[in-house]
Amino acid sequence: MTQPLQILLIDDNKSDRALIVRELRREFSQFRVQEVIDAQDFEQAIANDNFDAVITDYQLRWSNGLEVLRTVKAHYPQCPVIMFTNTGTEEIAVEALQSGLDDYVLKETSRYIRIPVAIRVALERIQTQQRAALLEIRLQTLLNQVKVGIFRSTSDGTLIESNPAFLELLRVKSITQANELKLLDTRDCYERLVNLSSDPRQEREIQLQRSDGTQFWALLTTTLSQIEGIEVVDGLLEDITERKQAETTLQSLNAELEARVRERTVQLEAANQELAALAHQLQATNEDLEEFAYSISHDLRAPLRTIQGYAQVLLEDVGETLNSEHLRFLQRISVNVEQLNTLITDLLTYSRLRQADIELEPVLLASVLSEVVTQLEPEFQARQIQLQIEESLPTVRANRLILIQVLTNLLSNAIKFVAVGVQPQIQVWAESKGQQTRLWIEDNGIGIPLEQQQAIFSPFTRLHAEEAYPGTGIGLAIVRKGIERMGGRVGVESQPQLGSRFWLELPTVLEE
Ligand code: ADP
Repeated sequence: MTQPLQILLIDDNKSDRALIVRELRREFSQFRVQEVIDAQDFEQAIANDNFDAVITDYQLRWSNGLEVLRTVKAHYPQCPVIMFTNTGTEEIAVEALQSGLDDYVLKETSRYIRIPVAIRVALERIQTQQRAALLEIRLQTLLNQVKVGIFRSTSDGTLIESNPAFLELLRVKSITQANELKLLDTRDCYERLVNLSSDPRQEREIQLQRSDGTQFWALLTTTLSQIEGIEVVDGLLEDITERKQAETTLQSLNAELEARVRERTVQLEAANQELAALAHQLQATNEDLEEFAYSISHDLRAPLRTIQGYAQVLLEDVGETLNSEHLRFLQRISVNVEQLNTLITDLLTYSRLRQADIELEPVLLASVLSEVVTQLEPEFQARQIQLQIEESLPTVRANRLILIQVLTNLLSNAIKFVAVGVQPQIQVWAESKGQQTRLWIEDNGIGIPLEQQQAIFSPFTRLHAEEAYPGTGIGLAIVRKGIERMGGRVGVESQPQLGSRFWLELPTVLEE
């Protein structure tokens, strides 16, 4: 519930007071009047501070309206004071109004009605003023608290208002100092805005200097406003140094990264070129070596045959006259020459495989295998081998002679690398792999350790001594080269002591 309105009524004339109260009653439903008729009453009232408005006559026995006005305003500047008189002059009215009088009403019968209206208007004005003052305070507090600098400047670039954050950003004590040091060119801000046709608003990132010479990055937002017909620049200034620094760091990191990637790419390319050159050289050297081996082998054949011939002649002609030791020497010569001959034959086969033009044709796996088996028949019989070949083998695209060499090598190895006393068991079958045929040759031999399974396909790689398992170490190299020249692949799966499974893959030829 609102408090009833309290009115201090200062008038010596009793009937005038009664008339005023009557008028007040018409306007206000709830109010209380405190009548003051002497100085003591007035002092008391001022001391008690329990009134909302004052109505006073000018002419008083104990004082006058101007004095009353000054005393009230001195204690309560917000309290409305209405002067209601018929004795005052115009000068008094002006003086009173200058001293803060809220309204001046002439004491005439027709004017009594104006008293309550004047009070209401004065009270409302004061309320409005109070609200405005409160808003102003709140606004000021906000401006003081925000971290963003706020400023206003005239069109000629003079700062006229700012909040503490603005001064703090520029490290100046006052707006005057800011104007003196010209740390922010607000004249330039104005000129930029004036040239913008519509929506005079600008946002830009600039680097500014503080009063102490240090620099910082700021986001400057400016707008053009009209204050009482005059153009001003309103602006916001925000410190974005940290963000800028982060951006710069990121940019330099990116640039560094790109530079490093470029550098690495160049290095990689150089390394690749070097590698390619080396590979080329290696291939050339390899080819030279193979070429050399081929020509040497070729040249060695004739003298070997001669040695073999002479050894044979000696054996036949004087063999019976030789003692047993000399006879053994002669036989060793013959065996070694034979071995050397095999090596040379293998080498020549390998070299020819590398060089010759190869013609491919449909080859029946079954017929090639039976030819190989026929060739190896003596060995098969000598060791009582069990051989199982799948019946319906497909046709592949190959060179018949090379395929015979390949399979001969694989099958003789399967027979050869079997532990002493074990009966060799060999199985051959085919498997379809897309457009390729994979032929398997499985034995129950001594097997091959995993780490050697790649190496055995290179020339001269042997895992055993000549005495245990004789050979030249070229057989599997011939196998690989031959298969590769026919566009196929070769490989092995094996476990020591459990046997090996060699496989080769060649394109399948579909039967019509
Ligand atoms: P060679 O048979 O003349 O020794 P290869 O090139 O045919 O030469 O074989 C290379 C090596 O691979 C052989 O010395 C042997 O150690 C191993 N090897 C080849 N085939 C088999 C097999 N079926 N089982 C076990 N080891 C094998």
